[in-house]
Amino acid sequence: MESLDNPVRRYAWGSRTAIAELQGRPVPTPHPEAELWLGAHPGDPSFVLDARGNRRSLLDELRADPVCRLGAPNLARWGGRLPFLCKLLAADEPLSLQAHPSTEQARAGFAREQADGVPLDDARRSYKDDCHKPEMICALTEFHALAGFREPAGTVRLLRALDVPELAGHLELLAGQPDPAGLRALFSTWITLPQQMLDRLVPAVQEGCVRLLHGTGNGGDPAGGATGSDFRAEARTVLELSERYPGDAGVLAALLLNRVTLAPGEALYQVDGVLHAYLSGLGVELMANSDNVLRGGLTPKHVDVPELLKVLDFAAGPAPVASSETDGAVTRYQQVAEEFQLWRLDWSPGSSGEVVPLPMDGPRIVLCTRGQVRVTAGSGRTLTVVQGQSFWLDAADTAVKASSVDAPAQLFLATDGQCRPGD
Ligand SMILES: [Zn+2]
Repeated sequence: MESLDNPVRRYAWGSRTAIAELQGRPVPTPHPEAELWLGAHPGDPSFVLDARGNRRSLLDELRADPVCRLGAPNLARWGGRLPFLCKLLAADEPLSLQAHPSTEQARAGFAREQADGVPLDDARRSYKDDCHKPEMICALTEFHALAGFREPAGTVRLLRALDVPELAGHLELLAGQPDPAGLRALFSTWITLPQQMLDRLVPAVQEGCVRLLHGTGNGGDPAGGATGSDFRAEARTVLELSERYPGDAGVLAALLLNRVTLAPGEALYQVDGVLHAYLSGLGVELMANSDNVLRGGLTPKHVDVPELLKVLDFAAGPAPVASSETDGAVTRYQQVAEEFQLWRLDWSPGSSGEVVPLPMDGPRIVLCTRGQVRVTAGSGRTLTVVQGQSFWLDAADTAVKASSVDAPAQLFLATDGQCRPGD
């Protein structure tokens, strides 16, 4: 059991307040802080701190003693690599429109780019490793996202409510084929439109959104029963995206996706091939330990449309909001991948001192997001964490229990998919 010191990633879309406030540092920070990485990703590993305050890379520590650190089952399954990466994610601005490949696609893509001699740090590189990247984000503040294709019937109603003459042909395409093939046809059309056409179409869509928000549109599809007011959040999002990325095909693609607002504690997951874009908010993110992102727009970064079209899943449905089960203080989120499992522990006001056993197998990363918590391992070692602090538990750290010093308090736990609840 050791405290963690975690690297901050300074992407331009990050927040100058959210992560620093949680960690009790002065705000605003000099640079936007987008992500705090808790894990052993080769690109930016966490450091473990011993009792004397010495820092050692978690990556090196895992290599030095994998059996104690990871445990035999985890080691046998994942070959000495921590299978998950946990992040604190703070988005002030939208992240790119993206999807992640399946394991098979990642293996093939990685091998191809290696054979082509594209350096790993090249901005045009799409496959950084040969792993898939399922992910889950759990909101700490209200969190906004676009995730998964909306049912085509709903999108047809949205397009009718926007009432953009320039989109009439596109609307008919989807209305005539309201299924995954129709979505593929429309998305492929939009994402490959020449810039000249996008420069006409995106402003026309903007105008449609403004009309819808001002209630001066056609009010939607009378036959479908929807009114423009059903799509106000969608229209506002399209306007925000188009102001930031004028003429970007991703603005049109956003019309096809579910617009999601998560309340704190709610989680959204992305499995292989699901198109998504995080818009704003602070959350705990947990994912397979990979960096494979295929972008389709809404970003200054490398966009790889042909590869994105190869991996996208055009099945439509409601947004992939995760279910969860709560047993006392412990909430366990729906498991969506073998690599990871997300857990949350809550101490409500007045429950100070209540002792809760932590999930018990394999390597675990624990982040305190509220209050103050004392942790005791079976070995007798203790550690106290406050909001914003985190620690690492070896597989060899058994019978670990936590109690709040100062309630309300909250911990998030990242484990591998085999981890069982504590008892
Ligand atoms: Zn993603």
